[in-house]
Amino acid sequence: MDLDELEHAASYRDRVSTVTEKGARNWVYALKPHGKFYNYRNILTAFYLLVFFGIPFIKVNGMPFVMFNVLEGKFILFSKIFWPQDFYIFAIAMIAFIIFIVLFTVIYGRLFCGWVCPQTIFMEMVFRPIEWLIEGSPGEQKLLNNGPWNAKKIGKKTLKHFIFFAISFLIANTFLSYILGVDKMIKIIEEPLSQHLALFFGLIFFTFAFYGVFAFVREIVCTTICPYGRLQGVMFDKDTMQITYDYKRGEQRGKFKKNEQRVLGDCIDCHQCVNVCPTGIDIRNGSQLDCVGCTACIDACDFMMEKVGLEKGLIRYASENGIAEGKKLTFTPKIKAYSVLLLILMVILSVLMATRNDVDSHITRTGGQLYQELPDNKLSNLYNAKIINKTNKEFPVELKLENVKGEIKLVGKQYISLKGEKIHTETFFIILDKKEIHDRTTKIKVGVYRDGKKIQTVKTNFLGPFI
Ligand code: SF4
Ligand code: SF4
Repeated sequence: MDLDELEHAASYRDRVSTVTEKGARNWVYALKPHGKFYNYRNILTAFYLLVFFGIPFIKVNGMPFVMFNVLEGKFILFSKIFWPQDFYIFAIAMIAFIIFIVLFTVIYGRLFCGWVCPQTIFMEMVFRPIEWLIEGSPGEQKLLNNGPWNAKKIGKKTLKHFIFFAISFLIANTFLSYILGVDKMIKIIEEPLSQHLALFFGLIFFTFAFYGVFAFVREIVCTTICPYGRLQGVMFDKDTMQITYDYKRGEQRGKFKKNEQRVLGDCIDCHQCVNVCPTGIDIRNGSQLDCVGCTACIDACDFMMEKVGLEKGLIRYASENGIAEGKKLTFTPKIKAYSVLLLILMVILSVLMATRNDVDSHITRTGGQLYQELPDNKLSNLYNAKIINKTNKEFPVELKLENVKGEIKLVGKQYISLKGEKIHTETFFIILDKKEIHDRTTKIKVGVYRDGKKIQTVKTNFLGPFI
């Protein structure tokens, strides 16, 4: 290493790779990677895009497969509607998800960022390849950016930004389909714009947001904005699997000279790992928060190793201990504790999901009402019931007294029919024999029946005279 490189290597932790010493943006011109991992990422991207754009169109029994309508507080997961009353299931699911992410990160580092995160997938596998296609290699892109605004530059920039904007518009539409459902999106498109101005502005806002991120902000989302990225430092330990440079094998680095017995380390200092890096870092400086685990540097280095006849894997998936001591990934007590916690949460979540009722009922005595005396030594109380049908189908339900003999008399109707996805308010009398009442307040249980099968038991009170 010459003096400049030594200085850079020593100071790389003092500044962000995408910001110059004067605080200006250091635009990253990443080289297109080629190799085994890039091919896997291409296959995964095709599958990912199919899933991302396809899911809003999937329906089971007429219900969207997934919908997160935050505006109306209606959430559908695996075609099951979750109401605000089911929020506790969501809360547990979110906790389980966060613990899963932590556990996953402790073991596999930023594998999620490089292979699953939509930001990386869209940026590196959709938008950047389009840029390479239109503007050429990093060298050509630099020339174009620094050159005058001639017809060629205007044409290329217009085409690129038009395509970027069109894809952002498509992403924004899909994003809103996850919130509103694809049927409503189609309806909005078909109906006059004036009827859906708020949603239209929402769509334009998201389009510009995605366009801004992918055309200009780019890797800064991963290196500076994303909270998950910033938390990596506290989740990693020396056994965490990361994209790592094998400094033991690579150092002392130096240029490769053909037909010369190599006495230096295996790193031939070709800079290809830096050239392909979408966050502009040099992984040879050690693990860095800016590394999104995209594996582009593995492909680049493997290609160079193969070219000069050295063993591949100078940059590879390994832990810090793995490199330093030749140790394999170990199952540490921290990983075991996280795994047990995750398992417990998963079990609780599965039980809650499996036992969740399609109907949720609440029965209360009508406020400000006392009991009424009826002929034949009977008493009655007036009740209000709120019954939620969480499915999208209409079906009748029956209310029966469970622990006392008596009668339930609906007000103004013969039976209760629950319309799909609706909250129903019912009013009814409970009529009891005086001999059933032994106290001022009698605790009673009301069973809610569907097709003769009890689906819920609701507790309430029956008010009688002082005894
Ligand atoms: S260091 Fe390697 S894995 Fe990390 S972001 Fe750069 S190219 Fe991707
Ligand atoms: S690609 Fe490999 S050989 Fe080339 S500089 Fe990077 S680590 Fe060294």
